[in-house]
Amino acid sequence: MRDELVEALRAALGERGVLTSSEDRVRFEHGWRYGKGTARCIARPASTDEVARVLHICAEHDARVIAQGANTGLVAASTPDASGTMVVLSFERLNRCIEIDVHARTVTVDGGVLLSQLNEALAAHGFWFPVDLGADPQVGGMIATNTGGTRLLKYGDVRRNLLGAEVVLGDGRVLSMLNRLRKNNTGLDAKHLFCGTTGVWGIVTKAVLQVEPKPSQRATALVGCRDGQAVLELLRCVEQDLGDVLSAFEVMSKNAMDAVFRHQESLRRPFDELPAYAALVELSTTLPASAIDLNEVLEERLGAHLEVAEESIVDILIGNADDFWQIRHHISESLRNDGKMLAFDVSVPRSSLPEFTDRVIALLASDYPFVRLCDYGHWGDGGSHLNLLWQAADTADSDALTRELQDKIYEIAVRDFGGSYSAEHGVGPHNQRFYDRYTDAAVKQLSAALATFCDPQNRLGTVTL
Ligand SMILES: Cc1cc2nc3c(=O)[nH]c(=O)nc-3n(C[C@H](O)[C@H](O)[C@H](O)COP(=O)(O)OP(=O)(O)OC[C@H]3O[C@@H](n4cnc5c(N)ncnc54)[C@H](O)[C@@H]3O)c2cc1C
Repeated sequence: MRDELVEALRAALGERGVLTSSEDRVRFEHGWRYGKGTARCIARPASTDEVARVLHICAEHDARVIAQGANTGLVAASTPDASGTMVVLSFERLNRCIEIDVHARTVTVDGGVLLSQLNEALAAHGFWFPVDLGADPQVGGMIATNTGGTRLLKYGDVRRNLLGAEVVLGDGRVLSMLNRLRKNNTGLDAKHLFCGTTGVWGIVTKAVLQVEPKPSQRATALVGCRDGQAVLELLRCVEQDLGDVLSAFEVMSKNAMDAVFRHQESLRRPFDELPAYAALVELSTTLPASAIDLNEVLEERLGAHLEVAEESIVDILIGNADDFWQIRHHISESLRNDGKMLAFDVSVPRSSLPEFTDRVIALLASDYPFVRLCDYGHWGDGGSHLNLLWQAADTADSDALTRELQDKIYEIAVRDFGGSYSAEHGVGPHNQRFYDRYTDAAVKQLSAALATFCDPQNRLGTVTL
């Protein structure tokens, strides 16, 4: 059947710019973890002007649009709904510009550039973009979700490293905010409206990022800890003694590591017996080893900590950075093969992490003994990925169980511990009802006013902020 919207998009973007067949659409219709729908078509603009044209055409045909980057988001916010009427706006052809200014230490980059592509270009100049994670997202997707990652402790999130942006609003207007300045106090810094707001207020077509010199050496240790309190004390000590060079503090529970070694046969088990928690401690610096030997520093400081910590530290392994990071980066994938999984991306004040985790363990033990907790995460930032696993046969209604567990655990995190129900993955259909529940009424009013300005016909995205 003739589809006038598709025809208009083809006229604007050319044949390569629009995909319609079900085989072509399928990879855009499923999210990495959550999210599944049907797209009317996939629009693939190759410039800011083409993005604006797509939005004008969608307005003329009253079609809604969902922006999709690398589709690695974890809250179902990058896939179309089930109506079959939404246009997926893909940026895989908007990925040519990577302009590096070595003296300003900035890069101006298209929204569709992949993180790996960006880092490859930066490496030639001794730089990297330090928002680092186990996926390969696009720059626009990272801005829309304000990605955190494993080195937030040292370098911050995307928001902290974003200097400028170019954004196409829902009705096709272009906001040019391609600021390359580190200092600029001249009123509203409007680019931040589009950071962490999941693409519902505008499409990020270009960005200016500040980049960092690539460290010339790293030292990594895996420290086995008796319990969460021991992890916290270790964090306090390494931060106090080594804060200037501490670049990551990641934590993996025994259950999370156990899943990795059952599913990833090629990975070596570093401990004879898995401890309750293992902390991955990483130091890094741009100084050469002749000025400071990080391995020596790490060994000496952890040795000194062991003497006072006594039995709360069960083992210290130094070296094998790649092996240690491989374990950390394979957790998510290993858990996916381990049964029905419900993932939480929560944060609480760092000092509350052990107590919060104990509350969840107590809840599961009393009300859901068949549910296994496999937690891990960015403890250095107060973030915890609590993953709950069960077998399909354990419950007649997994969806009802999911809702019940979400209600109870978010209530503990947000109300009892002053935490967040989405530490770094943003807001999507997967957690919209918790945005609705926990967001202050005045903040919602302000958001609604901004939405009216940025996307007057409510054309963008599948969430309401
Ligand atoms: C294995 C794995 C590990 C991960 N680890 C981390 C981690 O450590 N820390 C972390 O924070 N996240 C992590 N994530 C989540 C995910 O990678 C990030 O949210 C990522 O930044 C999303 O980028 P994307 O390009 O894949 O965006 P998508 O998933 O395609 O989209 C995410 C959101 O951004 C919007 N969007 C996409 N592109 C644009 C654009 N150009 N303009 C406007 N809106 C846009 C979409 O509509 C959607 O709402 C992980 C994911 C995986 C699969």
